[in-house]
Amino acid sequence: MAKQIQAIRGMNDILPTQSPVWQKLESVLRDAVAAFGYSEIRTPIVESTDLFKRSIGEVTDIVEKEMYTFEDRNGDSLTLRPEGTASTVRAGNEHGLLYNQEQRLWYTGPMFRHERPQKGRYRQFHQFGVEVYGISTADIDAEVLMLSNMLWQKLGLTEHVTLEINTLGDSAERAAYRDALIAFLEQFKDKLDEDGQRRMYTNPLRVLDTKNPEVQALLAGAPSLMDYLGEESRTHFSTLCELLDAVGIQYRVNPRLVRGLDYYNRTVFEWVTDSLGAQGTVLAGGRYDGLVGQLGGKDTPAVGFAMGLERIVLLLETLELAKDVPNAVDVYVTAMGDSCVPQAFAIANELRQALPGVRIMTHCGGGNFKKQIKRADKTGAALALIIGETELAEGKVAVKPLRNDNEQQLVSRELLAETIKALI
Ligand code: ATP
Ligand code: MG
Repeated sequence: MAKQIQAIRGMNDILPTQSPVWQKLESVLRDAVAAFGYSEIRTPIVESTDLFKRSIGEVTDIVEKEMYTFEDRNGDSLTLRPEGTASTVRAGNEHGLLYNQEQRLWYTGPMFRHERPQKGRYRQFHQFGVEVYGISTADIDAEVLMLSNMLWQKLGLTEHVTLEINTLGDSAERAAYRDALIAFLEQFKDKLDEDGQRRMYTNPLRVLDTKNPEVQALLAGAPSLMDYLGEESRTHFSTLCELLDAVGIQYRVNPRLVRGLDYYNRTVFEWVTDSLGAQGTVLAGGRYDGLVGQLGGKDTPAVGFAMGLERIVLLLETLELAKDVPNAVDVYVTAMGDSCVPQAFAIANELRQALPGVRIMTHCGGGNFKKQIKRADKTGAALALIIGETELAEGKVAVKPLRNDNEQQLVSRELLAETIKALI
């Protein structure tokens, strides 16, 4: 036998038994963004490598070691997108959506990072995100958090996630803090892990984001960015906190929260869960007022977040909130003999027109009554229709309930749609 070809490591199939929970999640996302008046943007999966290098930052996990970068046939360096923000800004600049305008956008789709695959961490994964442009005040930061909060409500996850927020200040404030942090880290230079030592001069804030508990312990006495904030940044942050209080969203201020990408300023946040082990961040984002300018546009304030869909699906499964896999079929149409197949198709099509939303499958592949009813049963359909010569001669169809003991009945074609509607 020929050797089977396997999927690429870390890239998952979503099988028919799993797709219902994905569809449920996707419909919750769509409803939520619609409820807030956001518009969808779709961008290509492949972009110029420079786009990500310039936006995410050279000294970040993503750019240092996770990007799927390759040369195309023209010798251009392309990268499978590792996240959605850079592409959204690129598209916004390219099509003049950002300058002097407000945009409230959302996207969803696959992202690619060459990480070590493990539970909740894959090489192709899916994100849903929102990005808002043109508003600098903290009310919009609160709004995107309200939108994310609505997702948890609709998914039944409110009790399983908590919000952590922080502020990174503006670039001057961060520069002052950076110096203080480097001075602090220098005391522990030899005790830092490899990542910490490498980052301490290039990107010291990222050292705070470490997942290594020993390094975390060393950081207990690190200076706090809050102490380096000016009036304006402090007010921005306190306004956000007041708005979150006003709408009843609970949060914890976490002064260690910095986020792994370079483009954030002021507000940063993460929704985390302790039900997924180490991969606990399910949604993350913040303000990135500098990025539009950095990518060649006019300076435009921006805020957004991205949510990892695999982790939400895992959470729903772990909490057993995704148990019921609905069947795909309501009515299964059988044909007793090849001569009845055209009529069976015609009747099925009439019913699809007459009963929008009712899922009707026609039997294909022949076989006797027993075989066809067995198939019907396997689909989980509520009803089987039996189309046979004798019944057709009388203008009738037999309707056989499959999920209860009720008798099969002969129904005229005129009354068929109505009868089915009453029975399912
Ligand atoms: P982490 O610290 O877990 O590596 P990150 O900071 O790299 O996360 P972001 O770039 O902010 O993550 O992406 C937002 C969200 O996308 C994450 O919170 C997570 O839910 C999800 N995510 C990121 N990388 C992966 C991955 N490799 N597999 C599955 N989901 C992911
Ligand atoms: Mg990461």
